[in-house]
Amino acid sequence: MGGSLTTYADAANEVRIKMRLHRKRRAPRSGRIPYHLRRRRERSLHKNASAPKKEGPRSGRIPYHLRRRRERSSHKNASAPKKEGSTKWGQLKDHMKQYQSCTLCPRNCRVDRSRQKGVCQSSDRLMVSRAALHMWEEPCISAKEGSGAVFFAGCSLHCVYCQNFQISNGQMGQEITKEHLTELFYRLQEQGANNINLVTPDHYLPQIVWAIQKVKKEGFSLPFIYNCSGYETVESLRELEGLIDVYLPDFKYIQPETAQRYSHAADYPNVVKAAVAEMVQQTGACVFDAYGKIQKGVIVRHLLLPGKVREAKQIVQYLYETYGDKIYISLMNQYTPVTALENYPELIRKVTKREYDRLVDYAISLGVENAFIQEGDTAKESFIPMFGDEL
Ligand code: SF4
Repeated sequence: MGGSLTTYADAANEVRIKMRLHRKRRAPRSGRIPYHLRRRRERSLHKNASAPKKEGPRSGRIPYHLRRRRERSSHKNASAPKKEGSTKWGQLKDHMKQYQSCTLCPRNCRVDRSRQKGVCQSSDRLMVSRAALHMWEEPCISAKEGSGAVFFAGCSLHCVYCQNFQISNGQMGQEITKEHLTELFYRLQEQGANNINLVTPDHYLPQIVWAIQKVKKEGFSLPFIYNCSGYETVESLRELEGLIDVYLPDFKYIQPETAQRYSHAADYPNVVKAAVAEMVQQTGACVFDAYGKIQKGVIVRHLLLPGKVREAKQIVQYLYETYGDKIYISLMNQYTPVTALENYPELIRKVTKREYDRLVDYAISLGVENAFIQEGDTAKESFIPMFGDEL
């Protein structure tokens, strides 16, 4: 395997981290000018220019935050009634209405979740399966201290090969209040977490929005990570604008047939493309602190499935051609057959080293630099978190 993308994680807990960002700071590998130097150069050009300053940092376009401010103020002045469900600080009651005819995700079940469960197998009561430091995320997320992961029970996608099947069926977990969720955030902070990592959160959006708003008001400063399947509606994501610092979506399939076969969601490719576009629009390019820990941005994950190298390459190509270096791509080889897969015999094996190397080599040949790859044997059940501890 050629190239030197950032590698991470082996199952023996000897996390071999090559912090590519650190290397890059010392010696850029290609002829390209690194982003932070380009920014510095642009700033100094602006400072020295005799012409009056433009509003936009890079071009004549109005910057996104100013456009948003303008839109918000025009909304405020509009005489039309406010849209139901629009984010308002601290008003959980409005958010909870979303459960009355649930369309929080693209399944659009329209069930009243106080009485009935939808595809996600979740009621309107928040259920959490685990809250603990997680050491095996990408190095810029876990680093040495760990990521403060909160795993939510239930899932709207239900992939047949789910790696966290114990919790995705919505049966394992503890019902907690929204206030308890904020306590979990603080507890993880006290334990030294680098961030709060919300895992499969989309079907509990109302309480999550409330909890983040509350702790942010109180001065909570750890970045919030939205670690999701990529099967998200743009409307739901818009409710998270300004609350989520880092999006960590999967990009599982680009072919509708594969999405239908493994997740019963032929619309997944279109949904995930729109979702990633919204995420990137909200956060902009990735920002890291002095220690290489991510503070803002989008990292898109792809878990390589057995026999699916071609589709994986199409995903990498799409992401790189659409977003270039604005996002990071995380290529994962840890697929483990953990569920009953009699009807999917092609999935009853791990991904081979050759398959994974072909994917990584392809990414390198495209020119992808902002990526994470895994090394060592990560395809083990021990790599999957334990669930069921008392919260
Ligand atoms: S969140 Fe659950 S109930 Fe709501 S639309 Fe999605 S799958 Fe259906």
